[in-house]
Amino acid sequence: MKMNLSNIKKAKKLLCNRECIAIPTETVYGLAGNAYSDRACEKIYKLKKRPKNNPLIVHYFNILRLKKDCHINNDFIKLYKKFCPGPITFILDLKKSSKISKIITNKKSTLAVRFPQHSITRKLLKILEFPLAAPSANPSSRVSAVTSTDVKEDFGKKIKYVLEGGKSSIGIESTIVDLRKKPQILRLGGLNISNIQKILRKKISINNKSLKISSPGQFKVHYSPGLPIRLNAKKIYKGEAYLLIRKKKVNKSNYFFLSKKGNLKEAAKNLYTLLRKIKKKGFNSIAVCKIPHRGYGKTINDRLLRASRYNEKTT
Ligand code: AMP
Ligand code: MG
Repeated sequence: MKMNLSNIKKAKKLLCNRECIAIPTETVYGLAGNAYSDRACEKIYKLKKRPKNNPLIVHYFNILRLKKDCHINNDFIKLYKKFCPGPITFILDLKKSSKISKIITNKKSTLAVRFPQHSITRKLLKILEFPLAAPSANPSSRVSAVTSTDVKEDFGKKIKYVLEGGKSSIGIESTIVDLRKKPQILRLGGLNISNIQKILRKKISINNKSLKISSPGQFKVHYSPGLPIRLNAKKIYKGEAYLLIRKKKVNKSNYFFLSKKGNLKEAAKNLYTLLRKIKKKGFNSIAVCKIPHRGYGKTINDRLLRASRYNEKTT
């Protein structure tokens, strides 16, 4: 994606005025605001209709700037050196002297931090004097946005500006790892756990219990296209779209393929685009084939399970 400096300057100006804008990242688009400003952070919650007890991820340019706000440790340094910038989010302890808005943390003493890889957003972060609070740019509980068009369709004129950055190259949210004590995964995502384990040289558990406490948004309906979803479907019913992992030689307008040859990374990248496409085409529900439960397949299954809890009465 070509870097357009006047777009980045426009984004900077709005952010310095404590406005909210959408920014591209390699995982999904983010809804960004000055993480030191209560007013900007309030706007993010309002736009997303996000419950106030669900904290926001904060995006930094580098470790030097992060150190002003958070305590770091050896595990963090190892993972930072290997994977950052990239699709990994760390839960760290906030410093007492941190200027991070209390609106973000909901008075908690921890912060979720990330260093996005997308070159346009990195350029923006570099020239800003504050980090960016940026949860995914979608209304709370719905499918994340992987293009600027997705963001515009979800928010229309409510959002002041969308910084164009093409399609997100990973297309699924970051992996969240809590590094405060014994490392634990809080959310599966764009970086496989095996890569993290290799660098830390220890096995890491997936902590659903702590997720329930610290990330309330994760447990309810999430990532939903606004349609019922049926998992592990071997056949389909009338009016349903069929989402398959591998391309088949059939010419049916209700069949959608996550990948050409069953590649799970490619499938994760296409997941949200296809969920949005199926919704737009007017199907009344989605049947999904069994997705292999390994590597990125685990992340896909995590998202589909949460999306399948959709119930028209709850939204
Ligand atoms: P999103 O806002 O869509 O980018 O997702 C970010 C996820 O990180 C949300 O589910 C939050 O609940 C979670 N999160 C943010 N801050 C923290 C924190 N301090 N501790 C645990 N989880 C967090
Ligand atoms: Mg989200």
